[in-house]
Amino acid sequence: MTQDENSSRELEQWRSKYYDGLAQLDRKEKDWRQTENVLRQCISRLTLAADDSDKELNAQLDRLRNAIRKNSSSTELEALIQSLSESLVRLDQQRRSRSKVPTPLDVLRSLTEGISFPRGLGHKAKAYNKTLNAATTDSDYQPHLQGLIVLISEAFDWLAEQHAEEEPTAARGLLGRLFRRDEASPPDTGVSTPPPASAPASAPVTEGGEELALAKGLLAQLVAAVVVPSGVNLGTVSSGLRVARRAEELQRLTLELAALLSQQKPSTAALSTAVSPQEVLLQLLERFGVPTELHEQAEAIKNTLAVPLDDADLEQVLGRIADLVTAMRTRVQSEKAEIESFLKQLTENLRELDNSLQNAVAAHRETVQDGRVLDAEVQVQVKGIEDSVQRAQHLEQLKQVVQERVDTIRRHMDVFRRTEDERIERAEQEVVNLKGRLRVLEAESESLRDRIQQERNQALIDPLTEIHNRLAYNERITQEYARWKRYQSPLVFTVWDVDNFKRINDTYGHQAGDKVLKVVAKILAGQIRETDFLARYGGEEFVILLPETDLTHARAVTEKIRAAVESCEFHYRGERVLITISCGLAVFKTDDEPDNVFARADAAMYRAKAAGRNCCRADGDA
Ligand code: GH3
Ligand code: MG
Ligand code: MG
Repeated sequence: MTQDENSSRELEQWRSKYYDGLAQLDRKEKDWRQTENVLRQCISRLTLAADDSDKELNAQLDRLRNAIRKNSSSTELEALIQSLSESLVRLDQQRRSRSKVPTPLDVLRSLTEGISFPRGLGHKAKAYNKTLNAATTDSDYQPHLQGLIVLISEAFDWLAEQHAEEEPTAARGLLGRLFRRDEASPPDTGVSTPPPASAPASAPVTEGGEELALAKGLLAQLVAAVVVPSGVNLGTVSSGLRVARRAEELQRLTLELAALLSQQKPSTAALSTAVSPQEVLLQLLERFGVPTELHEQAEAIKNTLAVPLDDADLEQVLGRIADLVTAMRTRVQSEKAEIESFLKQLTENLRELDNSLQNAVAAHRETVQDGRVLDAEVQVQVKGIEDSVQRAQHLEQLKQVVQERVDTIRRHMDVFRRTEDERIERAEQEVVNLKGRLRVLEAESESLRDRIQQERNQALIDPLTEIHNRLAYNERITQEYARWKRYQSPLVFTVWDVDNFKRINDTYGHQAGDKVLKVVAKILAGQIRETDFLARYGGEEFVILLPETDLTHARAVTEKIRAAVESCEFHYRGERVLITISCGLAVFKTDDEPDNVFARADAAMYRAKAAGRNCCRADGDA
């Protein structure tokens, strides 16, 4: 092989090394783009995982998502993230002001604000408000609480008188007679069972007694059966009926229903004044949106509120509610701090990514520039070699010239290669660093998303019985109802209520009652199909949805469940406790809404109670 051939081979090798270097850089750039994509996906997912309760924050997250989708520049992304951080600060301030711990006086004030007292009590309510607003010592709220209770009782008396005077026909109808002692004539509607005439109107009907169940059943039946003009909603009556346990409550509901049926919108006072402070506090608690880990605390308060309380008890409950609010506030703060620090970390990572991208761009530009310089230099040297070949007189001279030129090329190549090697090494290191950071970030975003999902799932579970709760039922009935409307395949709704549960609580204690609820939930869950849906609706009431089931089959299923509950061997402290349950069924029919069906099943359930309990009744059964 001649020296010429050697030199040109060497040149060729250098050239190919140079192109290899360029190709390698190309690959690195692709790598970068992939890395950037991963980060973009990661932010995009995070924006999806975030809480959606704030409109402005939502809009900003949408913009960020869109910017990511459109591959906007990193400067643009950084501006968006900056405005996101500002929103977070604003949200923080809002939450801080929202989560101010209420004092007992605050709670009383918010209770009083929620009640619109009837006109007849205007001056008294005003005077009460004045003293309440002037009160400054939180520990002295006791007389104010007492004052509120007195005011509420007076409002109820006033209201009852008004209804009796203003609406004699409505009040003296079937329902009026059922609950009024002063009406002697029997009901004329064909309903044969007489009212509990012996009980005075203001005394509680024997709790758990046949009379109360019968009266509730009749009212429920009426609510389910009447056709009301559009705009009239019997929802408050039927929900009030579900929790009513005393004659006074039934009387109030009767008056309310009477007012509704005479198409006179009952005054807001009629709805609000008859509510006991305990009920208002219960509603207050329902609206708190208590996080899972505080459920137990909230449930305990609710249970306390479920039985009649004296003033000292109420005082204690108010204190416990205040503690709950404080705990919720602390929790919100730590959650906010966690999300904030995560977003901060995300912003830092984005900034770093941006820097690295800028560096990569600059490095690429340098490579291209250096490559051009090298290329020009190689051209010059090659041209020089060509010229020398043309002009050379002696081989020795030619050899020397070529050797020099090849040396020059080699020197340039060396410089280029060294610079390139360093550049590549730096880039590689940065890719490794960034990938590591991305992995951490991705893992964190995943765990954040999982936690949000987990908390959502937990929010749908009743902590005591570990079956679905009312919130889950509300979600599911919406879906099942939509499906039923679309496909018209049969759907049966069933409602269940443990018999004489109060007696179980009273005889064996609340803890035994809780155990019974767990056992019942387990039996119900074990008897249904996977496509059926079971939830604890509240207290000792459960609901089961039976999709793709007609009434005949549903009857068989409910009877099987009822028998399973009756035959369960439940023992408490060595003693067998007989548990029975009553059930009401209703089939979805044309033009039905979930609420109507619920009301019909509820009325059927009250008929089951009136028929002696421990049985099932369907809508339409006697
Ligand atoms: P009926 O057969 O007519 O349904 O009578 P009952 O005694 O079951 O009905 P009532 O509505 O009078 O009583 C229900 C009781 O259930 C009152 C309430 O204190 C109790 N309760 C509600 N929730 C819970 C709970 O979570 N645990 C316990 N142990 N008791 C509860
Ligand atoms: Mg009940
Ligand atoms: Mg019951």
